[in-house]
Amino acid sequence: MAKFFRAAVLGPPGSGKGTICKRIAHSFGLQYLSSGHFLREGIAADTEAGVLAKSYIERGMLVPDQVMTRLMLPKLEQLRNHSWLLDGFPRTLAQAQALNNLYQMDLVINLNIPYETLKERLSDRWIHPASGRVYNMGFNPPQVQGKDDVTGEPLIQHDDDKPEALMARLRHYKEVAKPVIDLYK
Ligand code: AMP
Repeated sequence: MAKFFRAAVLGPPGSGKGTICKRIAHSFGLQYLSSGHFLREGIAADTEAGVLAKSYIERGMLVPDQVMTRLMLPKLEQLRNHSWLLDGFPRTLAQAQALNNLYQMDLVINLNIPYETLKERLSDRWIHPASGRVYNMGFNPPQVQGKDDVTGEPLIQHDDDKPEALMARLRHYKEVAKPVIDLYK
């Protein structure tokens, strides 16, 4: 039987996880699966997972593990004959354990970025809420200030990307991610 490659990238908000994952997936011909993307898609299409997830995402909170595993594991099942790279899943120990019960991971990359860098990036981050497109006013600004490149709609800054909320958010990330990182070590 052919051997398929199973990989995931872990990293705090602002680590550039999405950008890096897309590049790796493209370079190595892996199927790219982003949990955040599936959630936003679900919200736009009013699916069960989308409806459940919406209020959590809007508050900058993690979506419950059960919702996430029910969303992600069937997608992986559909791709069982492909090599894949996960972006944003697993994010908690319960998710990692659910994934481990089904697949043996070949590679898990943990992006370790200094706090000062994350703070700088996140406080410069603006988002187009409908699509999830992310801009950075420093190194990836929109063509027209404050407007999404594709739709022209206004960009917003998440309350939890504002400097006051950042420290708490990154601390929370560390607490939740530590057992996941320990598991894969
Ligand atoms: P992302 O695009 O990966 O930054 O995800 C956007 C938002 O979706 C996160 O801030 C969480 O609220 C939610 N989310 C994405 N993936 C997960 C996950 N594996 N577990 C819980 N919540 C998630």
